[in-house]
Amino acid sequence: MSQTTDTDMSLLTRKLRAETSGGRAAGYCWLEHPDGKARCTRQPHTGSEHIDYYTGRPSLTSVKGVEWTE
Ligand SMILES: [Zn+2]
Repeated sequence: MSQTTDTDMSLLTRKLRAETSGGRAAGYCWLEHPDGKARCTRQPHTGSEHIDYYTGRPSLTSVKGVEWTE
């Protein structure tokens, strides 16, 4: 008697989409940095190495900014 209904699933899906909107739609991994200061802008990937190519670059000519593993 505890089967998940279609309605429950769609509510969960909508909640998840709301939390990951924007970057995910643009084709990014979009995992949030533990400090909340960056989001992974690699394409969706496996593995634990995440990179934000746009946030935290030491200079405008730097190729990438924040890197972390999670
Ligand atoms: Zn990532």
